[in-house]
Amino acid sequence: MKILVTGGAGFIGSAVVRLAVARGHEVVNLDALTYAACLSNVSNVAASPRYQFEHADIRDGDRLHRIFASHRPDAVIHLAAESHVDRSIDGPGAFVDTNVMGTFRLLEAAREYWTASGRPDGFRFHHVSTDEVFGSLGTEGRFTEDTPYAPRSPYAASKAGSDHLVRAWHETYGLPVVVSNCSNNYGPYQFPEKLIPVVILNAIAGKPIPVYGQGTNIRDWLYVEDHADALLLVLGKGAAGRSYNIGGESERRNIDLVLTICAVLDARRPKAVGSYADQIVFVTDRPGHDARYAINARRLHDELGWKPNVSLEDGLARTVTWYLENEPWWRALEDRKGVGQRLGVTA
Ligand code: NAD
Repeated sequence: MKILVTGGAGFIGSAVVRLAVARGHEVVNLDALTYAACLSNVSNVAASPRYQFEHADIRDGDRLHRIFASHRPDAVIHLAAESHVDRSIDGPGAFVDTNVMGTFRLLEAAREYWTASGRPDGFRFHHVSTDEVFGSLGTEGRFTEDTPYAPRSPYAASKAGSDHLVRAWHETYGLPVVVSNCSNNYGPYQFPEKLIPVVILNAIAGKPIPVYGQGTNIRDWLYVEDHADALLLVLGKGAAGRSYNIGGESERRNIDLVLTICAVLDARRPKAVGSYADQIVFVTDRPGHDARYAINARRLHDELGWKPNVSLEDGLARTVTWYLENEPWWRALEDRKGVGQRLGVTA
């Protein structure tokens, strides 16, 4: 397949690009290269004849029309987004612009191209979304594809809005879309503003390791390469108009996750005295912090035969090792705006 991947210089998008090229697909990586992007994430495929890059913004409709017309993709995997909840609290406008309006422009460009191509059934517009659109769970239950949407942060609300647009383009215009809603990802190349890289990098720098509130919020963690694998499966085998939840079957309280990372670091790079866990500090909670997310991924398992390959313990060990061995990668990002600062407190 020739796949147009949006956001392919980001964390998850770059994992999709690397995997798709490795599996023999042609990839056009479309990315605006925002603060969160890093083209070096895809340097191992950049020289491949199956890889091309378009420096473009999904809010630029004219440009999108030209990109579709010139590359003529068989499918789209749409990951480009503003993705950090804390930044959405301080500056929600960028999230509405990119996640809602950008997705609208991309849908329109895809629809025009698909219509001009004779409306092929095999075309796919795969919209990559999050479990955060479902809101916050209590101690029981898990999100299914039929859970009503109840987003609670500007980020989650903007993703929910984009999900609704994508489904409407299927119902109204017949565009063959698939939507996937995934739990929290972690792994190599994650931008150092998200929880797991912050914990690793603050720990080895001897800085306080911030944990929001009492660390009791629960997330379901999925290794990013497992997510990329699931996305390509949904793209190839998912039914048009259908949604698929993707989860890691690994629910953890934040504090337990942080303690596990500290234990891995204690084994890999022991401190002269004490444990990295001694650096943990509890800080003011995020406003509207969702208590628990948990994914029921039975549909993806039963209909497409998918389950995660990498356990949380194995994935965390791989991730810690990757950050320890790739210091030039994260050092180069340290002076980007907001990195190393507490964000999301302006509410
Ligand atoms: P990321 O912030 O690491 O990467 C986003 C990429 O999109 C960057 O390369 C950025 O340059 C690009 N981008 C941003 N605005 C753009 C625009 N206007 N035009 C073109 N490109 C633009 O994000 P991520 O964590 O890799 O997430 C990717 C997708 O997966 C997002 O849609 C996100 O909502 C979804 N998702 C993320 C997670 C997670 O845990 N990180 C979980 C579920 C779903």
